[in-house]
Order: sequence, then C-alpha cells, then structure tokens
Amino acid sequence: MKGAARHFSGSYGEARGKFLAAARSAGAAIRHHLHPLKGPGGEELATDIARFGPENARHVLGIGSGTHGVEGYCGSGVQTALITEGFAASLPDDTAILFVHAINPYGFAWDRRVNEDNVDLNRNFVDHTMPHPENPGYEELADAINPPDLSPETMAECRARMKAYAAAHGPRAMQHALSAGQYTHPQGVQFGGRAPVWSNRTLRAIIRAEMAAAERIAFVDIHSGLGARGAAEIICTEPESSAAYKRMTAWWGSSVRSTVGGGSISSDVPGSIPVCFAEELKGREVTACGLEFGTVPIAEVTVALQSDNWLHQNGGRNNPKAAEIGKLIRDAFYVDADDWKEQVTETTRLTGARALAGLTA
Ligand SMILES: [Zn+2]
Repeated sequence: MKGAARHFSGSYGEARGKFLAAARSAGAAIRHHLHPLKGPGGEELATDIARFGPENARHVLGIGSGTHGVEGYCGSGVQTALITEGFAASLPDDTAILFVHAINPYGFAWDRRVNEDNVDLNRNFVDHTMPHPENPGYEELADAINPPDLSPETMAECRARMKAYAAAHGPRAMQHALSAGQYTHPQGVQFGGRAPVWSNRTLRAIIRAEMAAAERIAFVDIHSGLGARGAAEIICTEPESSAAYKRMTAWWGSSVRSTVGGGSISSDVPGSIPVCFAEELKGREVTACGLEFGTVPIAEVTVALQSDNWLHQNGGRNNPKAAEIGKLIRDAFYVDADDWKEQVTETTRLTGARALAGLTA
C-alpha cells in the first residue's frame, strides 16, 4: 500500500496506534482524554490530542475525527496522513494546529455512528434545560424508521411509508424527518440525548484548555456518509448572511453550503458540533464547519442505520446477524479503496491549508 492509504486502519485500536505514533514522531504535544468504558477487545478508549505550534497561539486550526464513531475510519486516516506528511511541520507565526482524534471513541471502536448512550453526538449540543426541538415527521414515521424486524417484507413496507411521506411533503421534509434528530425515542435512530454526553463534556473541556489564548479559531470536523462517492461538501450550520458563512466561502469557495435554507446536502440539524465552539469561544472569531465526504447511495446508508439500531436493540454483538450488520454499517461510512482515501486526504489537505491562510491573513 502506498500514498495516503497506508495511514487508514481496520479498527479503532489500530487507528489510535497509528495516530499516536505519527504524532510522536512528528514532535506533537500529546494529551489523552480517557473514556470510562472499553472497546470490544478490552482496549482503552480515548479522545487523543496532537498539538503543533505554540501553546498560547492566537490562531488555532482544529481538525476533528470520529464525531460519528464509525466515520472515524475516514477522519482518523486523514489526520494520520496529514501529520506524517508534515502538514504541521512549518506553521505561520502565532499559529497552532490541533488534531482531535476520535471525538466519540466508543462509537468508533464498536462500529456505531452513535455513542455509548445511543446518542447522535452531533444532535447533543442543545440546551437540555429547555424544551427539546421537535421533529413531527420523525414522530409520524417512527415505526418505519425503526422497523421491528429486518425481513424483506417489513423493510419494503417501511420504505413504502417513507416514499409516501416524501411524495406528500417533499424529499427535504423526508430527509429532515429521518436525519434532523429527535429527543423522544431513546432507543431509536437519531436520538439527540437528554443531557450532555461524555464526548460533549470532553470536547468542551478540550476547547477551554487548548484554545484559551486563541482569537481566531477554525475547526474542520471530518464526516462521511452523505454525497456521491469521494465528493466533498463543507457544511456551515449558520445562515448565508452570517460572518462565518462569508469567511468560509472566501476561504473555500463553492464547496461551502449552509444548512439553513436548504442549500446543503445536510438537513438543518440542531445541536451540532459548531454550536459548542460558538458557545465556548464567545467574543472570538470562530469558523467551525463539517467536512462531509460521500460514500455510497443514501438508501444504503439508511438501511445500514436502521439495521445497526435494530441490532443494538436485539442483543448487539451476541446477535447472529452482528457480523453482517457490522460490515453493512462500516461500508456505509467508509470506502475501503485507495483512490477514495487519496481523494479525502487531498481535499482535507487543501481545506486545511486554505484555513491556515485565512486565519493568518
Ligand atoms: Zn457524520
């Protein structure tokens, strides 16, 4: 294996080992935030930090992986490739780069998009003391989104109900019902949680510790699973009129899309990662986005999510279908092919380089 592909891994443990080894040999400051639970092989779980540049830098670029657990196969490989090839070797003055590895390490290690609480971390950054956002479309379709079994008949029936909903309300409304999160079905897909989960609290602690002196901050959170194979979209959760959106388009051009108003491949989701950067870094210039890479058609991703959730309500790894469904979910969020790995690495390298130029301009 040559090029970027050799930095990608087949398990969380392997990915963590490669990331830490690359960080060590590149001379990073390394910090570990240990998770209270273990991986399927009894391995330690952690969100690890590799930091380059001065501790009190005014400009900080963060690159994150594994917010959606299993999507860490993509983000971790990219991070390790960039560190190894010297992306952080010569930084502009007063600038630091922070690689945040496996923001949701439990989901990564257990091949799930959600965390140890069945929570979609990227819907968890809401104010839990307030009434939670409602998702009436999800309520209407809850039985179809969370099928009671995976037989071809049941799955066909669920698909037909979702198709009918899309025909009546439009495809955007269908996508919103399915993916914008929900706070009423703790055992269903896309549950946003009812309190800040471990990864939420840990990421906030990391921001406070690592960005205390920063005045201009960019954060690129690497995701996978939406869009055409290898295609990239930079997802901005603020409206097109916002200063953050304008900065993003100045830095990154036409691959930037706002989720507000429907221009993005993603629904307008509440409680995603950029929210906590804005909250923790009030008064500073914050440019936080998702960098989304396409994998397989959305219908396959949907079936993988439904199957994964069903599995974990029905015995998890002890279920005879566990291996089959594990492969389904991994294949939905990670394309195990050299050209795809090169492509996602190259796009992130360019995105990061332009962010550094933008931060220090
Ligand atoms: Zn994601």
